[in-house]
Amino acid sequence: MSQLKRNTAVKKGRNQTQGDVLAEKIPLHFKPHEEEMARDIQRESARVWNTVMTIHRLFWFKYGVWIDEAMMKEFLKGRFNVHSQDVQAIIETYYECWERTRKLHEEGHTEWRYPWRLKRFFTSTWKVTGITVEDGYLRLSNGWRKPPLKVKLPERLNGLAIKQVQLVWRRNGYWLHVAVVKPALEKVQGDAVAAIDPGEVHALTLTDGQEALVINGRHLRSLRRLRNKTLRKFQKAISRTKKGSNRRRKLLAAKYRFLNWIGAQISHAEHAVTKMAVDWCLERGIKKVYIGDPQGVRERDCGRHHNQRMGQWSFGRLRDLLEYKLKRHGITLEKIEERGTSGTCPLCGKYTKQAGRIYRCGDRECGFGEVHRDVIGAAGILDLAVNGRFTLGRKLPEMVSYARPVVLAPGQGHNIKAA
Ligand SMILES: [Zn+2]
Repeated sequence: MSQLKRNTAVKKGRNQTQGDVLAEKIPLHFKPHEEEMARDIQRESARVWNTVMTIHRLFWFKYGVWIDEAMMKEFLKGRFNVHSQDVQAIIETYYECWERTRKLHEEGHTEWRYPWRLKRFFTSTWKVTGITVEDGYLRLSNGWRKPPLKVKLPERLNGLAIKQVQLVWRRNGYWLHVAVVKPALEKVQGDAVAAIDPGEVHALTLTDGQEALVINGRHLRSLRRLRNKTLRKFQKAISRTKKGSNRRRKLLAAKYRFLNWIGAQISHAEHAVTKMAVDWCLERGIKKVYIGDPQGVRERDCGRHHNQRMGQWSFGRLRDLLEYKLKRHGITLEKIEERGTSGTCPLCGKYTKQAGRIYRCGDRECGFGEVHRDVIGAAGILDLAVNGRFTLGRKLPEMVSYARPVVLAPGQGHNIKAA
């Protein structure tokens, strides 16, 4: 039941609004008394969860009745020191979780347990009526008996409609997960298609058949390496300490601090790379983008299980971000098996394993070369997607541009201080 926390995500059908709902994660830097307050709120939320679960189970064991969601909401109204919407959100989470388990049991997966664990803390949720914005501060109501929680709103979220706020304990600290509505963007009118070849040295290579753009990914790669390398060092050091020791506690705190910092850096770099790609597509009226799926390639090339997993993890994030951003403009992203695309000669069709950055055909008589390998790769993906196979002697992009994403360090405006 580790999926539990995701259940309380904003439900699309209920709050229909013009625009796209975006989840922002904000780390909080609380003063001791604010931290105490946050703990109190989460403790009360846990009390709601525990009560719902206990009543639900008790009625079943005593009377053979499962109380339904509506009745539970009615029954628990006004009994807790948190906002009424938090009580409702927790009840909804509980029932979603319970329903899902029931379905799994029906399908024969009886190893899944119904919610049973009593919690000490639980994620607290505020919806529209519990949230007010005053002078750049978020004011989160906790019912009429308790004072509200005040948090400075990051500048980038000013003026946006807020749908939901959650107080989450993550990586050894409190975070706010804020669901904001970004205004709907104009959708692309064109019908052109393009292909993207994702890579390590070149984060993304795009082509529409006429032109190509190679986006440098060195900065992103170095950040990912730093992340993985440092994380391994932390793990090693942590594994040498005793459970519950002071030393381990300190190391864990340092690990989470590092993860937060590097996470922000990587996310900035990813935004810069994907922004370039999206802008390029918009300028050309691209409506559909095919992306090479490196799954098959990685399975063959990567020896070490660990490295492979890390690589896929980071690539998946970049692709998800790209998909999200393109979707906001009405552009679809489709995966294409990229096996062979960067090694197959566009002239003679022979496959040559490539070592350098410039493509070279291994066939002596053909001798095709002088084109960037990733451009051949992207053009190959486009060809496969549109024609279903490699077309020999096909036209290659005539204009190739190279770009290095501009990455700005996360500004002070993003580090918010609690009120
Ligand atoms: Zn050739």
